[in-house]
Amino acid sequence: MPELPEVETITRALRRAVVGRILTRFYGYAEKLRQPLDAATINRSAKNRSIVAVARRAKFIVLTLDNGAAVVIHLGMTGSLRIDKKAEPRRAHDHAVFALDNGEKLVYNDPRKFGLIKFCATDAELKALLGKLAVEPLSAPFTPAYLAAKNARAATPIKTQIMKQEIVVGVGNIYASEALHRAGIAPERPAKSLSAAETAAVVAAIKEVLKESIKHGGTTISDYRQLSGREGNFTRRLRVYDRAGLDCRHCGGKIRKITQAGRSTYFCEKCQI
Ligand SMILES: [Zn+2]
Repeated sequence: MPELPEVETITRALRRAVVGRILTRFYGYAEKLRQPLDAATINRSAKNRSIVAVARRAKFIVLTLDNGAAVVIHLGMTGSLRIDKKAEPRRAHDHAVFALDNGEKLVYNDPRKFGLIKFCATDAELKALLGKLAVEPLSAPFTPAYLAAKNARAATPIKTQIMKQEIVVGVGNIYASEALHRAGIAPERPAKSLSAAETAAVVAAIKEVLKESIKHGGTTISDYRQLSGREGNFTRRLRVYDRAGLDCRHCGGKIRKITQAGRSTYFCEKCQI
C-alpha cells in the first residue's frame, strides 16, 4: 500500500508531467472503484480545462483545473498512475484515462479497485472531502508538543498511536516501524510513558524517515511504482521493516517481528527501549 512518501513522489512527478496541459477527455472503464466512477460528470466540467496545479494532502492527489474544479485521486491499496503515449494499448486493470492535449495520457491502474477518483466541482466540495484531515507530518504544526498532548493520557502502544490518522496523516506501517527504530523507542511502549525528549525524538524521526524516503522515490514492497514505472529506491534503506531475523544495522542485535493492531511491527530488541 502506498504511504505518504510514495504518494508525494508520484505527486512531484505528476506536477512536472501535467501542469499546464489541457485535459481533453476523461475515460472511465470501470463502473466503480471505492466509489462510482462518473465519467459523464467529470467530462461535463473538466473537459478542455487546463490543469493548473497538482498537490498532495495526506494520501490524496489533487489536480486543480483552471475553472476551480478539482479531480482527487487516491491510490487505495494497489493503485498506480503512469503516463503513456496516445497509441499505447490499454493494460489489464487500467480503469481510467485522462487524455491530454500533448498526445499523452495519464492512466490509472488498480487491480483491487480500492482507490478513488472523485470530481469536486467547487472548493466547498473539496473541503468536504479533505477539510477534516489531521495535521501533515512534514508540516510545522506537527511538533513534539502536539504529539505530547495527544499522548498524555493514551495507553495505546506508541506505534499504533503514530499510525492513527486522526492524530497525524500518512504515517503508515512501514514508516511507523522505521521511525521508532531511528528514535530508539520500543513499539509496545504506552504512548503516555514517553518522556518529552523521547516524544521529540519520535517526531524528528518521523519527519526524517519520510523526507529520506521521498528523496529516494519511496519504498516498493509489492505493487508501488513511481510515475516512470520504476520501483522506489528506499526499499534497500529500510532498517527494520521486512527484516525479521536479520541483524540490526545499528547495533547488530536481531530484528523481531510482532503483530500490533493487526499489523506487522518490526523492531530491534536491543536498541529500542
Ligand atoms: Zn539495534
